Amino acid sequence: MGKILITGNNKKFIVKDIDKDIHTNFGMISSEDIKKAAPGDIIKSNKGIEFSVSESLFIDMYAKIKRGAQIIPQKDIGLIITEAGLGKDSVVIEAGAGSGALGCFLAKICKEVYSYEIREDFYKIVQKNISFLELDNIILKNKDAKLGFDETNADAVILDLSDPWELIDVSKKSLKVGGFLISYSPTIPQVMDFVDKLDESFVYIKTSEIIERNWEVNKRKVRPKSQAIGHSGFLSFARRIK
Ligand code: SAH
Repeated sequence: MGKILITGNNKKFIVKDIDKDIHTNFGMISSEDIKKAAPGDIIKSNKGIEFSVSESLFIDMYAKIKRGAQIIPQKDIGLIITEAGLGKDSVVIEAGAGSGALGCFLAKICKEVYSYEIREDFYKIVQKNISFLELDNIILKNKDAKLGFDETNADAVILDLSDPWELIDVSKKSLKVGGFLISYSPTIPQVMDFVDKLDESFVYIKTSEIIERNWEVNKRKVRPKSQAIGHSGFLSFARRIK
């Protein structure tokens, strides 16, 4: 991992090429200064603005991935991980890959991720994001997930596509008994069809929407930020029981 420069008001700049100066709205930071700096050091731009130097972490790089399809926001990824208890032993299948936002995050914490994307243009974006994040445990396939997944015995199958109910049967074949089937959909009719089509092999657990409300904390001016809370999607959870 490389270096990252952070200003006092949390503007971040990733050092992609240490041999190049970085040009920002806060002035230019010279490559020479960046090379010399150790984590915790403060360096100044030619406009006199201070930047602290840190090592870049996964999340700094993750924030910079390319986006094609609409991604799953981090608040929703959090519920997927905790509800299914995903971790270093988990094998997960997802469709569609989209921009790879969910798949790459899961690859960071899981053992293996198998990711299916039908569109070649999105597949190429995800390929770039996987190599940008230096992940080697996500296997990306340019395939129609409706035709079935090549893997079996997965701990979780996660569906983020417009007609998840059409993939219940193929998901069942690839899930271990006890594994989770998770569907992410922006609209309630999609949730209704998905839950309605779950067969007796599954027990339905719940459907949730995560609403994250950010607060402004500025001396005694402490209150919810006034921007509207946007809608992302509903997460439905089921479990294969036979
Ligand atoms: N979860 C992703 C976003 C997925 S967007 C992320 O966080 O980045 C939905 C994706 O599903 C689109 O890229 C679409 O091309 C893909 N898709 C739709 N039907 C599919 C199918 N049958 N098989 C594989 N991918 C499919």
